[in-house]
Amino acid sequence: MSKAPLVLAIIATDRTYEKVWYRGREVWSGKCIHCNTRLQVGLDGTPISRATIEHILPRTHGGTDAIENVALACARCNGGKGSRHDHKRLDDPKLQAIITRLQERRRKRWRDVPE
Ligand SMILES: [Zn+2]
Repeated sequence: MSKAPLVLAIIATDRTYEKVWYRGREVWSGKCIHCNTRLQVGLDGTPISRATIEHILPRTHGGTDAIENVALACARCNGGKGSRHDHKRLDDPKLQAIITRLQERRRKRWRDVPE
């Protein structure tokens, strides 16, 4: 299944994403939820730089594709968190701290989808 619709839904609700001109075409440009690295995504939702979908509450702990629970992350950050933390118990303080931090960032960046 294509991830493009979910990627576009994230962009629509993340105020760091704006349309910019990039290498001769118009794209979405916004920030990695972890490290603020710039990410470019085609207007059709296809990642140009290596943007990946990050689940704030990891899927291994029951996290879903609910729009509040997903954000875009650069591949480096997503891979790092995935390999180091998602396997931990949900009550692990380090994992809890990451989840809390990401939830706060997602809320701060939130924008309502225009009607
Ligand atoms: Zn990153």
